[in-house]
Amino acid sequence: MSRTRFAPSPTGMLHVGGLRTALFNYLYAKKNEGTFILRIEDTDRERYEEGTEENILKTLDWAKLNPDEGVTLEGEKGDKKPYHQSERLDVYKKAIDKLLESKNAYYAFDTTEELNRMREEEKKAGNPAPKYDISMRMRMKNSLTLSEEEVKNKIDAGDEYVIRLKVPDNHTVKVFDEIRGALEFKSSSIDDAVLLKSDGFPTYHLANIVDDNAMDIDMVIRGEEWLPSLPKHVLLYEAFGWNMPKFAHVPLLLNPSGGKLSKRQGDVSVSDFIERGYLPEVMINFLALLGWNPGTTDEIFSLDELIEKFSLDRVQKGGAIFDTEKLDWLQGQWIRKFTPKEFAERIQPIVAKEFPDARKDSKFVEKAQLIQDRITFFKEASEMLSFFYLDPKVDLELIASKKQKVTKDMVADIVSMLIETLEKISTWNEETIKESIIKLAKEKELKNGQVLWPLRAILTGLPYSPGAFEVAEVLGKDETLKRLAKALELVKK
Ligand code: GLU
Repeated sequence: MSRTRFAPSPTGMLHVGGLRTALFNYLYAKKNEGTFILRIEDTDRERYEEGTEENILKTLDWAKLNPDEGVTLEGEKGDKKPYHQSERLDVYKKAIDKLLESKNAYYAFDTTEELNRMREEEKKAGNPAPKYDISMRMRMKNSLTLSEEEVKNKIDAGDEYVIRLKVPDNHTVKVFDEIRGALEFKSSSIDDAVLLKSDGFPTYHLANIVDDNAMDIDMVIRGEEWLPSLPKHVLLYEAFGWNMPKFAHVPLLLNPSGGKLSKRQGDVSVSDFIERGYLPEVMINFLALLGWNPGTTDEIFSLDELIEKFSLDRVQKGGAIFDTEKLDWLQGQWIRKFTPKEFAERIQPIVAKEFPDARKDSKFVEKAQLIQDRITFFKEASEMLSFFYLDPKVDLELIASKKQKVTKDMVADIVSMLIETLEKISTWNEETIKESIIKLAKEKELKNGQVLWPLRAILTGLPYSPGAFEVAEVLGKDETLKRLAKALELVKK
């Protein structure tokens, strides 16, 4: 049994890296018969963006990564309520009091101007990255330098203050990361992080630790960008005297040129991918392989298969390249994987939106079969099947083809020959059609393409479509001949 959590901040639409973090937490929990929890970390009121929490929940639902506990589409679920940090201020207040009492935290009254001045002076003195830390805190205005009475007077007078973590002197923070192994951080490299802001809201560090403890989280899986925060978190656990969960920091997502994946290079929000027609199965399969590998050459995994195979020791340390070519390839693989019936069921409503006749079409599965190997997105289906539901335009520019060595002058003769040949077929199917057309080409000393291309172009009106024989079979003999006759009439004019 394990308890994992996904703890997004509602500061933007859920991005692909976030969905991968959610997935890894979900897989770990399911693998260990545990609980996957969703907590909303909404303490940063300045960066809060309306509507993004809903986007996060809906996207998780789309991906079938619904939380077992915490914030869900049906409201809050579980006995550790509330799961929105903005509703837990009293919990953080109690935690802060505990830290103040044990002298692991202190009040700091420095104004923004004073902090800026300190940084300027330090920089001038040759310290390139000044921070509020052990070496600095005794020069600042805080409860370590002011008397108890002065502190009380300031608070009573309503002076603004923050509460900071008192990082211990000469201490080495030791922590084990499930992906990176044993890590050590010198306390001199850690700043006295703000834990409670002047607006009374906790910072991420405090709220995150207090809640992971209160919600009995035993495995924290999150992006590598949180690694620099880890020593502060460990110090907080030490200060509270709480047991630590395990930690796993998953590798950054990189663009194909090796840089950090960012909005500037294109789509990073999952909603953009949904809109473009990627299937949830594909996105999950793709994201699982960003940083994790099964140890075999297999690449196609359903969510259930991932639960069975997933383990953190197969997650790499180095960055994972977000390769959209691979994503498209996977989408193709998944589309081919559906049974003919499943595939037809998925595309029927899409095609029917444009061609209502498709809804009650008894031959729809057969028609859909013609394109299952040819499309990457379901939305391509309507155009690819359009010729079944409307009379295609006879387009001489398309029927004649330089590549296939069919000139415009040749078209009428070829179409006449096709009509003559196809009329004679008594058992109408792909094989018999193929046989007679290949025979025809041979007799007339034409290349196969010189006969096939015009046939396909007339039957479908499309530059890219399923093959001529299969299309003719599904259209039926009468319709095929009707279309050829109409084309002949038009090209003769
Ligand atoms: N609220 C943080 C985020 O937005 C959570 C980081 C963590 O998992 O500790 O990603």
